[in-house]
Amino acid sequence: MSVNKTLTRAQFDEVMVPNYAPSAIIPVRGEGSRVWDQEGNEFIDFAGGIAVNCLGHCHPALVGALKEQGEKLWHLSNVMTNEPALTLATKLVDATFADKVYFANSGAEANEAALKLARRYAMDKFGAEKDQIIAFDKAFHGRTFFTVSVGGQAAYSDGFGPKPQSITHVPFNDIAALEAVFSDTTCAVMMEPLQGEGGIIDADPEFLQVVRALCDKHNALLIFDEVQTGVGRLGELYAYMRGDVVPDILTTAKALGGGFPIAAMLTTKAIADHLKIGTHGSTYGGNPLACAIGNAVLDVVNTPAVLNGVKVREQLLRDGLNKINAKYQVFSEVRGQGLLLGAVMNDKYQGRAKDFLTASVNEGLMTLIAGVNVVRFAPSLVIPEADIAEGLVRFERAVAKIVAP
Ligand SMILES: *Cc1c(COP(=O)(O)O)cnc(C)c1O
Repeated sequence: MSVNKTLTRAQFDEVMVPNYAPSAIIPVRGEGSRVWDQEGNEFIDFAGGIAVNCLGHCHPALVGALKEQGEKLWHLSNVMTNEPALTLATKLVDATFADKVYFANSGAEANEAALKLARRYAMDKFGAEKDQIIAFDKAFHGRTFFTVSVGGQAAYSDGFGPKPQSITHVPFNDIAALEAVFSDTTCAVMMEPLQGEGGIIDADPEFLQVVRALCDKHNALLIFDEVQTGVGRLGELYAYMRGDVVPDILTTAKALGGGFPIAAMLTTKAIADHLKIGTHGSTYGGNPLACAIGNAVLDVVNTPAVLNGVKVREQLLRDGLNKINAKYQVFSEVRGQGLLLGAVMNDKYQGRAKDFLTASVNEGLMTLIAGVNVVRFAPSLVIPEADIAEGLVRFERAVAKIVAP
């Protein structure tokens, strides 16, 4: 395979805006859960493109769908509907609480649609004063100005001028704090059922019950941002299916395209009715190429074999991480669920998650971080068990080098 070695990491700093700090390697090829860089170095992928590549790299079913649709029809705009979009919307409706689907291209866009719909619904039904959005510290909902303002890290939304108003943040899983800010002017609560970027923090089942009850009491909508937790990541098709709390609006992106950009907002008919003709839209949202791939992803992921396989792989990964920790004592805990796990730095290694990521790359393993204190793992849902074992061997080597440099 041909590699263009005149293209280097150094060029990134010349021609790209400096908002990212990519690692030193330039990957050129992937297959399953293995990736190769320009130099031919091989990596095991425990990062999954940030919980996106749910079927690994170049899964035959996805490559097949891409090729087949790629030779048929790519794009029309929403002036016309198309067969792959109708099929995918029907699949999502059949598989979830939802009656209606809106397609977008990214998690932020799906969340933007959800927030605008919630505001419009409240305004239509109850009046303009019902506008408060409640969200949580450390939450992440994307980078458009509305979604980043609803996100729980002010550092990401500061410095861009006046922010969208009426957004209240409270600590996650804090029932008293939530009750204190809730009222009849609350329009919606937006939350991740398990916070990803914020550090792999699961919602307490009791907290979820209270959120749902307060929303019902005050006629507020419950929006689950399942951009990271959705499409099988936690071992259910969507995380809300772990319990009996059902949201009013759900957003899904990342793994929905397995690496191709696509997102969706799901909701009920009564709520969807308020997104009338012309109130919102997207040029690319629901295009046939993206939807054909989304269909292929769901056909593979939404099966007992893959979803149960997530739980088997979770156990292997969790046990392996705990075993490494028993030997080297670097983590205070391994938390999360399914194939979204976080190894949390103990007191001795505070702030050093990035060092573990860098050491892992040097041993041929791709991982993620979630904040400065959590090493995050989000591998393919179908990663071969042998690749989990080999990845853990490499991770142990990385940990050993950090502990005894
Ligand atoms: C990644 C992520 C987003 C943003 O998705 P983009 O596709 O980057 O816009 C939103 N919410 C959650 C929970 C995410 O993990």
